[in-house]
Amino acid sequence: MSKPSNADWLARSQAAVWHPCTQMQHHAQTGTPGHLPLVPIARGEGAWLYDFDGKRYLDGISSWWTNLFGHANPRINAALRDQLETLEHVMLAGFTHQPVVELSERLSELTGGALGHAFYASDGASATEIALKMSFHYWRNVGRPEKAKFLCLQGSYHGETVGALAVTDVEIFKSAYAPLVRAATVIPSPDFRQAEAGESPADVARRAAAALEAHLERHGANIAALIVEPLVQGAAGMAMYDPEYLRLARALCDRHEVHLICDEIAVGCGRTGTFFAHEQAANDGNPIRPDLMCLSKGISGGYLPLSIVLSSDTIYNAFLDDSVARAFLHSHSYTGNPLACRAALATLDIFATDDVLTVNRKKAQKIESALAPLADHPQVKHLRQRGMIAAFDVATDDPHFSRKFYRAALEHEALIRPIGNTVYLMPPYIVSDEAIEHLGKAISESLCETLGMSV
Ligand SMILES: *Cc1c(COP(=O)(O)O)cnc(C)c1O
Repeated sequence: MSKPSNADWLARSQAAVWHPCTQMQHHAQTGTPGHLPLVPIARGEGAWLYDFDGKRYLDGISSWWTNLFGHANPRINAALRDQLETLEHVMLAGFTHQPVVELSERLSELTGGALGHAFYASDGASATEIALKMSFHYWRNVGRPEKAKFLCLQGSYHGETVGALAVTDVEIFKSAYAPLVRAATVIPSPDFRQAEAGESPADVARRAAAALEAHLERHGANIAALIVEPLVQGAAGMAMYDPEYLRLARALCDRHEVHLICDEIAVGCGRTGTFFAHEQAANDGNPIRPDLMCLSKGISGGYLPLSIVLSSDTIYNAFLDDSVARAFLHSHSYTGNPLACRAALATLDIFATDDVLTVNRKKAQKIESALAPLADHPQVKHLRQRGMIAAFDVATDDPHFSRKFYRAALEHEALIRPIGNTVYLMPPYIVSDEAIEHLGKAISESLCETLGMSV
């Protein structure tokens, strides 16, 4: 019997697996401009993925922003093997275990003790819903039930379950389901691409904060929380903004008694240069802190589904009471799964032993140099970077641009999946200098082939 090839897995997957965020018909349209190839992966090693026919792809987007230290990382693998032999799972209601305790303590330390209570779930969208429910329920518990509305930023993405869609402002995800959703109020984004002539990114941030202030002055009494993706709005197309917005938003939320929820699902764990992105906003050298913070994606090193909501003492204490109805009523079967927590602990160990944030600063410079020549391309706009995220927009009317570019990049042994007309890199932190050059070359050649002109 011969070993199964790409073609075998392709056919079987297309028949039996309903792939996420995908028009399944595009997978079948081989040879057309709109074709979206389906790539069967046999194994991963470091920054590379390998298919069943021996072809390889450099994972330029960390498998949807989850992977930090490479596929099949020996240290995370060893920790998981050990955990597997010890305890694979136990329910977290009424029970506890070493990995969940240690992880909660270490996350609290990473916030300087400001967010000392960790609540667990399995995916990012659930973390968003948990944070929204916690904020809403907090205000009820303290006798302010009228504070029940949420604010989110234009272009925000906080997940796609019905509750999370309430604070997601990406048309493609929300329009079909709008009648199911209790939508939050969308306020202006500080995205620095909106700068008018003579405006700096900090000016755009101040302008967006002024809009937040105006809204809070009129409606603050009814608002429970503002939720933001600190510094980079990922799914909006890597929209970046100045930390000044977070500093001002923190002050305004304090003044109007509104919770600030930082969704660090994509930008946390060192992605933007600091361990948490919100640390780049500071008052007199002290980082601002949110009232609630969501983590997922990179926290388990890209290994296992895990999400966490960290909360302040003030919020946590408001739930303490004899009454069960005043407790935070939320659970998932796999809440606090020991394997996932152990993967997260192994991930935090790597941060601690390898001085990852310092190493990443050098990697980020390499990425900047690799992409710098693109700035001269007439169709490349807003080349931008924050730590280990680099992006640019492509001026083109081609409705198939993103799929054409994606296919071209695969041909150049790179997994780079544009969001609309935004091409971005968000590689695993272990990406080597040669691999960064490989990605830079794959981008310029794919751009040239997709747009039909040289770079
Ligand atoms: C990915 C993401 C989510 C949702 O996480 P899932 O695990 O995909 O549900 C929420 N917020 C942000 C900022 C994200 O990038």
